[in-house]
Order: sequence, then C-alpha cells, then structure tokens
Amino acid sequence: MKAMILKAANTPFDFETFPDPAPEPGEAVARVLACGSGLTIQHVKAGRLPAEFPRIIGHEITGEIVEIGAAVTGLKVGDPVTAYYYLNCGHCRWCHSNLEPLCENTGGNVGKNCDGGYAEYIKLPANIFIKLPEGLDYKAHPAEIGVITDAIATPVKVLRRAQVKAGETVAVFGAGGGIGVHMLMLARWARTRVIAIDISADKFGACREAGADEIIDASEDNVAEALLDLTGGDGVDVVIDFVSAASTLEAGAEALGRCGRLVTLGGTGETFQADAHAMLHKEQDLLGSRYVTRSEVLDALKLVARGDIWPMVTDIRPLEEAEALHERLENGAVTGRAALLIG
Ligand SMILES: [Zn+2]
Repeated sequence: MKAMILKAANTPFDFETFPDPAPEPGEAVARVLACGSGLTIQHVKAGRLPAEFPRIIGHEITGEIVEIGAAVTGLKVGDPVTAYYYLNCGHCRWCHSNLEPLCENTGGNVGKNCDGGYAEYIKLPANIFIKLPEGLDYKAHPAEIGVITDAIATPVKVLRRAQVKAGETVAVFGAGGGIGVHMLMLARWARTRVIAIDISADKFGACREAGADEIIDASEDNVAEALLDLTGGDGVDVVIDFVSAASTLEAGAEALGRCGRLVTLGGTGETFQADAHAMLHKEQDLLGSRYVTRSEVLDALKLVARGDIWPMVTDIRPLEEAEALHERLENGAVTGRAALLIG
C-alpha cells in the first residue's frame, strides 16, 4: 500500500510503499477512502504532541472493512466505518462508565501510538472501528463523513458537558478554528444565542455562516467587557474555550453570569485565576472536556445522517498533497476542516 509516513517529529512526510497490513486475531483492516487533517495531528507532525516514530498519522477516517482477523465479531467485510481516536482498554471502570477517554489502561491514540489513516489501508483492534449508521452517503462525501468523529462529535459532547439549554447565551473562544466553527453550528442547532470570539478577521465570515449571532474581535476588544455589554451586564451562560490560554480563560470566567459554566478544551494547559467569590455567589462551574465517547460519535454521525448538521470541509486534496495541506494547517490558513482523499 501507499502511505505518507513521518520518520521523526518536525520533518516532511515521505510517500512510500509498504506491504498491505494483515489483521491479527481481534483486529480488522479497512480500506481508507478519506482522512481528516486536523490540528491535533499537525501538533504531532510539528513535535508539539509526543508520538512514536516512524508513524503514519491520521485518525478521522472514512473506510470500508476489507479483512477481519480471527475472533472478531460485530464487523464484516464491506462495512463502512470510521475510527475511535483512543486505544482504550474496554474493561476498566471508566470504559464501563461510558467515559472511554478517561480509560486508566489507555494504549494511546490512533495515528500516534499505532499507524493511522494517511495510507490506503489501516489496521486497528476491531473495537476501535465504529460502524457508520444508515443514511450517510460516505462514498460521495468521504471527507465530510471522516471529520465527524472530531469536528461534530466534540461539540455534541461539549453541549452535554455544559448542560447547554435552549435560550441560553453561549460564547466560543477560538470560534474560527476547525472545531470552533462546528461548535457555533451545534450551539445554533441547540437554539442558543451564539457569540463567536476570535482574532482572525478572515474567519469571521465563516463564523457567521456557521451560526454566530454576534462576533467579538479579540485582537481589538476587551472580551470580558464586550461579553458583559452584549448581555446587559448579566454575563453569559456558557463559555467554551478552544484557545484555553490563561488570558482567554480569565476573560471567560470574568464574563460568566449566574449558574455560568466555563468549559476548557484544547490549549497547552496553562494555569489561570478565577474569582472564588463569584463562583460561590453565582454558583458557577469550571469544567474540562476530553474528546468524546463512542456513543457521542454515533450521535454525531446520526445528526449528520438526518440532515441537521453538515461539516464545513473547505480544503480536500489527494494524499500526495499532505505536506502542502499541513503547511496551510500550521499557518492557520484552513477555514473549517481539511481532509485528504485516499481510496
Ligand atoms: Zn479502560
């Protein structure tokens, strides 16, 4: 098979030919039709996230099962699939509690600790494949279907984590980013008032298209003041921070209203300050959100299948152009999501 391989962090891809993978017992192999190119894997490529090399990266796949190993049940040749990102154990209390991202025996991630989707074929433990539900035209739109596991499932999870209710005000930091615009879509879908916050004016059009009612340019405005102004001084109900720098987290916490919830995800893990007095008197919650569960992936796939949401994928290229596409990702030039067509 042909594959894009990284020999080390912060190096260009090599386009090489490898033997087709064969499944061991408990594994399955899928032909890859498309694979999403998100920031997470660009962080791996650039050496900002640890991974084992050499490595074929990529996990947001659309594929079709072509071979199953011994003792595999629940999958058959021809099944359309995507992949779960975490190589979770399936047996610990967290896996049994529908909280697989918190698995205490995790084997790491697809495309980081085992080879991923930037190849004609991908071999994974069978339980990592997630069968696509009926109603998704994955053959016509493999790129869009592939990114659902992250771009749509993550916002679905955040809506639940923050218990977002219709009529509330939701402010999104990093709204112009690949997941940010989809968070706006899902917040609109959840019938909230949606405020987008970003520093890239060239992404504001996409933010409006995705569902933002208002936009705050964080490169010009004091964001906390702007959020308080927009809410008549009450503060917002939910802040979702995909940037999660100390400055954005502190602005978000400052702008929270009564029963406000601040959700952090993404970012590099900075320490920030919040006002304990405000948290107590306004009964506010500070929340972390880590990836998604399999059931949230299935829920996201079904939302797309029934036409409620459609992923914004603006840059779709052949596998051979992975290097050029990742250069655009590194420079923040991609609006919405990007993906590679493979099979
Ligand atoms: Zn586990």
